Order: sequence, then structure tokens, then C-alpha cells
Amino acid sequence: MSRPKTAPYRQFFAALATLLFVVTSAHAQTRPNVRILATGGTIAGTGASSTTTVGYTAATVGVQQLIAAVPELAKVANVKGEQVFQIASESMTNEHWLTLGKRVNALLAQPDVDGIVITHGTDTLEETAYFLDLVVKSRKPVVLVGAMRPSTALSADGPLNLYNAVLVAGNADAAGKGVLVSLNDQIHSARDVTKTNTSTPDSFKTPELGLIGYIQGGKAFFYRASTRKHTFDTEFDIANLNTLPQVDIVYGYANMNTVALDAFVAAGAKGIIHAGVGDGSLAARVKPALIAARKKGAIIVRASRVGQGILARNGEANDDELDFVAADTLSPQKARILLMLALTKTTNTAEIQRMFYTY
Ligand code: ASP
Repeated sequence: MSRPKTAPYRQFFAALATLLFVVTSAHAQTRPNVRILATGGTIAGTGASSTTTVGYTAATVGVQQLIAAVPELAKVANVKGEQVFQIASESMTNEHWLTLGKRVNALLAQPDVDGIVITHGTDTLEETAYFLDLVVKSRKPVVLVGAMRPSTALSADGPLNLYNAVLVAGNADAAGKGVLVSLNDQIHSARDVTKTNTSTPDSFKTPELGLIGYIQGGKAFFYRASTRKHTFDTEFDIANLNTLPQVDIVYGYANMNTVALDAFVAAGAKGIIHAGVGDGSLAARVKPALIAARKKGAIIVRASRVGQGILARNGEANDDELDFVAADTLSPQKARILLMLALTKTTNTAEIQRMFYTY
């Protein structure tokens, strides 16, 4: 019996399939391996209608759905998703940070992971970013991303923000720059970025010190980097930590009283961030309570509620005499993070002040 006429075609198609497989897997090998760790937030939020941009529910869409919504990701990276938490970021706790930091360190230690993207609510995104900036032990890129509009909104910013973040995390130029934050086509360093607007997509800014790069046309461009030490170059290690020391923030305002401060100290605060008015000035009726708190052992860091500028050591208060620490340019919420980590190493105020000028 003669062979069916279709045999040569079969052979041809089999050869073509093999070729395609080889070409596709070679291409996959050249693409970076990026892990997406999802934690919730508005980027994973859903609203009642396409025009709902406030009053929606954060943290409802799972990581696989977030990835599936952006098929373009597959062209620029080999992405794998992992749901670490599913929360609105106002509910982020120290314990969440420790879990996340350990997971990031474990993944970055793997040779088959080139970079990490963390999807996150925008409310505390800058805090998680700075925490990771101080505890991640790797030069590989870590990029935090969020969205100001829920996934169901007209012009939702999440999908493009996610695509851009994956581009940055897979870009060799992003390595060694510390933890990065990317939204609205811009790249910021974790230490200096802050949320500046309650609702607009251009909310994330690095006032005065400046953003460090842009994403345009599917490429990341870098122009500067923070001069402060970070990630692989810090003295902090969370590997064996399950909790962080209690540090709270007291906010300065006209007519300020000591009720919150006294309550925090009575509750066992190991550190207090005084988010003072102006250059961290101390109200006459609050200063004695801060001195008393220091005498009880709490570390007092003077920060400012102003949002920009250096908190001058020995400026509005004599920090040498009071044995207080100056927050330098850190916002009160970021000063809290550095003080918690500092307290895992020492209670010496000179050492803690050194850390505030180092990180
Ligand atoms: N409340 C939300 C969150 O931080 C806001 C957002 O993600 O934009 O989770």
C-alpha cells in the first residue's frame, strides 16, 4: 500500500511546530522573569459602575485576573503572580511588612527571579516601599505599583501602571537603585516619594528632590538615583523578626495637648515621632511631656508635618541637651519606619541619629 499523500505535509507541519517551539522558548528565555506579588488596594478594586471612582471596594480582584487583564505583559516578561494579601492598604500592619519583606528576600535569592512587582493600595504604598528599601537584601529591582482608579473605572490607570511596573522590574538599569515606586508613567525612589492628592492619577510625587525616571514608549529611562543607602547596603535584617518595636506618631497643631502622647507612652511605645509644626517646633505645654517620655526610655524623633525640607538638628529644640533625634528630610510616617528598624539594633540616640543621616 502506498503512503498517504498527507505524510509530507505532516512532516512539514511537525518540523514547523518544532521550529516555532524552539523560537518561542528562546524568546521566553531572553525575557526577564518577573514575579507579581499582589497585596490588594484600588488597583484590585471594583466599583458599582464605570463612573464610580470613589466609594468603590478595594482589594477584590485576584492577582491572576490582574495579570489576565494585561495580555501585553507576556510580550515583555515571563510573569508569575502570587497573592500575598488581599487588603486595602490603610489596614497594612508591621506584621504584613515582615511577611512581605521575607517573601521578597526569599524570591530574590532565587536565580530564576529577575525582579519583583508589588501591587499595593496607594494610601500606605510609600511606607511599604520605604520599609522594603531598608530590609530587602538584593540589587534586583523591586517596584511597587498601585492605581488611583478602581479596575472597573473608565480610564482605569491600573493596567498601564502594572505594565510599566513590569517593564521597570525587568530592566537591568533599575538594579541597585533601591526599591522603586512607579505610577502615572513616572519612577520614584521609595525614600522620597509621597502621595500628594486624595484622588487624581498624578498623585505620587517626589517634591523638590525629584522623580528618578520615566516610562515612555515601552521603555524605562533613568535620570538620577537617591544618594542614601538602601537594600543590599543597610544594616537591618528581618530574617528572625516576628514583630517590630512599637513606635507611634503624635501630630502637631495649634492648641496641641499631651493626651495622645501620654497614652502612647502608657501603652508602651518604645519610640515617638513628633510630627511638629514648622521645623519640628515643640509647643510649650508638650515639651515637658516629651522630656518625661524620653526619661522613661522612649526615643523621641523630631519630624515635621510640613512635608519638605531638612529638620534641623538643634534648631527649634536643643536635641543634644534633650537627647532627641532629628528626622532629617523623612516624613513622620517614614521616620516611624526607620526608628522601628533602628530600635531592633540599638537604643543609643547618637547611633540612631547616624542612621537618620544614612538612610
Ligand atoms: N484605600 C485604598 C488603599 O490604599 C486606596 C488606593 O489603593 O488607592 O488600599
